[in-house]
Amino acid sequence: MIRPLVPGDTIGIIGGGQLGRMLAMAAARLGFRTAILEPQPDCPAAQVANSQILAAYDDRAALTSLAARSAVVTYEFENVPVGAAKHLTDHVPVFPPPLALETAQDRLAEKGFLNRQNIRTARFDSVDDDTDISLALAAFGGSGVLKTRRLGYDGKGQRVLRNATDTDIDGTYDAMGRVPLILEELVAFDFEFSIIAARGLDGAMMAYDAARNEHSDGILRRSTVPAGLRPEMEEKAREATFALMAALGYVGVIGVEFFALPDGTVLANEFAPRVHNSGHWTEAACVVSQFEQHIRAVAGLPLGATGRHSACVMENLIGDDIERIPDLLGEAGVMLNLYGKTETRPGRKMGHFTRLT
Ligand code: AMP
Repeated sequence: MIRPLVPGDTIGIIGGGQLGRMLAMAAARLGFRTAILEPQPDCPAAQVANSQILAAYDDRAALTSLAARSAVVTYEFENVPVGAAKHLTDHVPVFPPPLALETAQDRLAEKGFLNRQNIRTARFDSVDDDTDISLALAAFGGSGVLKTRRLGYDGKGQRVLRNATDTDIDGTYDAMGRVPLILEELVAFDFEFSIIAARGLDGAMMAYDAARNEHSDGILRRSTVPAGLRPEMEEKAREATFALMAALGYVGVIGVEFFALPDGTVLANEFAPRVHNSGHWTEAACVVSQFEQHIRAVAGLPLGATGRHSACVMENLIGDDIERIPDLLGEAGVMLNLYGKTETRPGRKMGHFTRLT
């Protein structure tokens, strides 16, 4: 029997990025301590946590030490080695469950899992050489999105093929790094949106309002709430998210990305077994943010209400966008959140802000 955490208990977090940082801050507000497992010194999360274990995510001794000091362990990125998570479960509760990690880490397993829960996705095929790619592409009308099955994020490891001929495809498998691939049909969506939801230890489920998401170069730029989504489409996406969480035996916050089609169809694209960039707006527009919600869930506490008191737009500050900070600080109704990263690089997420509208 897993007991609810009490103030003073420690929550272990694997991963030291900005999501871990925001989780640690939410945990502190509920009276919990946090320990971060992260090989990079002075990482964003460790700057605001109680302790850091400086080691690789799959370092067995480090994992054992994390388990020893934690009442529960969670994680802030989806590429936590499944073996590490499973090793931890021998010593301490781990939420979300390793099954969620395992499923989300492989696009083929992920889409198959979604389909088995009657959740629609784009059509897809696993492809492992140029011939496979040609055949699958022909079945999808000549266009598709080729993705590495594993370790893709923010648009990395992807290639869009439009009306491609066999000559265009020649050498593509090599160019993608000779790794297992998935080809998806190219979806002509109206827009993208996401559902951020949570499932508690008691099985209770809550969802925030959908956010409309805009990406460029594969990176999320902006999330707008309300999303302007037809109510029945939002309902369908929420039901799909709940079905997914129930099937995974999920505990914690999940982010599920969807495509909204002009004819009212909703297709799931992928899910992240963690708090999600497109849910950052909740810290400014809801009483209980996605970060606190995740901490509540993994701590075995009741989930918070997900109602929204304001409409808002969240924007990421990427690379040189941090030059906007002085202006943003001068604006009423803007909540700014910076990640404590000292080095600015193009494409690097440095912070975000939410403007109440
Ligand atoms: P992903 O890594 O799957 O989130 O893909 C990154 C972005 O590529 C998505 O946010 C979409 O904008 C676009 N994309 C991914 N898959 C498809 C698809 N099957 N059809 C059209 N656009 C896609």
